[in-house]
Formats: sequence, C-alpha cells, structure tokens
Amino acid sequence: MPDRPHSPVKLTQNDREILAVLHAAGTPITAYAIIGRIDREKVFPPTVYRSLNRLLEAGLVHRIESKKAYFACPSDRSCAGESIFMVCSDCGQVAEISNHAIERQLTAAARDAAFEPAGFTLEAHGLCANCKNGQTRAAG
Ligand SMILES: [Zn+2]
Ligand SMILES: [Zn+2]
Repeated sequence: MPDRPHSPVKLTQNDREILAVLHAAGTPITAYAIIGRIDREKVFPPTVYRSLNRLLEAGLVHRIESKKAYFACPSDRSCAGESIFMVCSDCGQVAEISNHAIERQLTAAARDAAFEPAGFTLEAHGLCANCKNGQTRAAG
C-alpha cells in the first residue's frame, strides 16, 4: 500500500459505528465497553481493536493511557500533534488542549537527554469546573 499521509482517512462501517458509540458515551470508555455497546453480534473484538487503531491514527479518537479508555476527539477535524488531556476524576469528562509550546519544550528536554521522543502522553487529573463548583456548593 503506498504511503500517502495526506490522503483522507477512509472509514469503514465499523469505524463509523465505533466512533458514534464513543461520541454518544461522552466520557472515555474501554474497548470492552465499546464492544458491549455495539448492537451487532457480528462485530468481533479484533475488529473493534483494528477500528480503534485506525481511528487513533486518524486523530479522531484518543486514548487515555491511565484509564486504558478511548474517547472521541471533540474537534470535528482530526487532531494532529500532541494534546494534553485533563481528566475529571469525579464525572470522567475529558477536556483536551493543544499546547505546541509545551510540546516543543518537552521535545527539547528529551533531546537534551539524548532521547528522540516519538510522542508524549500528557494527562492531568483533577476536577472539572462543574464538579469543582458542585463540591464548593456541597461544602458550603
Ligand atoms: Zn483531539
Ligand atoms: Zn467533572
């Protein structure tokens, strides 16, 4: 297969179905949970994993490493580069920010240590604005 990085990603019916499941979930869910939500007996786990890999590569889906869970990228276009995922430990919502300055600094720091990074996993854990407000109200 020729390597054409700029060609648009061709999604299969399964890919689209899994993407729809992730969009509907709203919070990161595991591959196992995705399989449980697909309303068809003919989608086998290996198919789901292949689809997830395609969606990850296309930047349409991200993986929260600490939770071994997947979520649909909230931006409509595919997401390139490194993102920082802010995971709410209360409601499970994930907010995503891109910060190229941080990415450049991390790359520079890694290279200073004679390491060539292929990518970074950046996660922040804490409370989203909603949950933080809720806790403040509950406490007061
Ligand atoms: Zn994204
Ligand atoms: Zn929250």
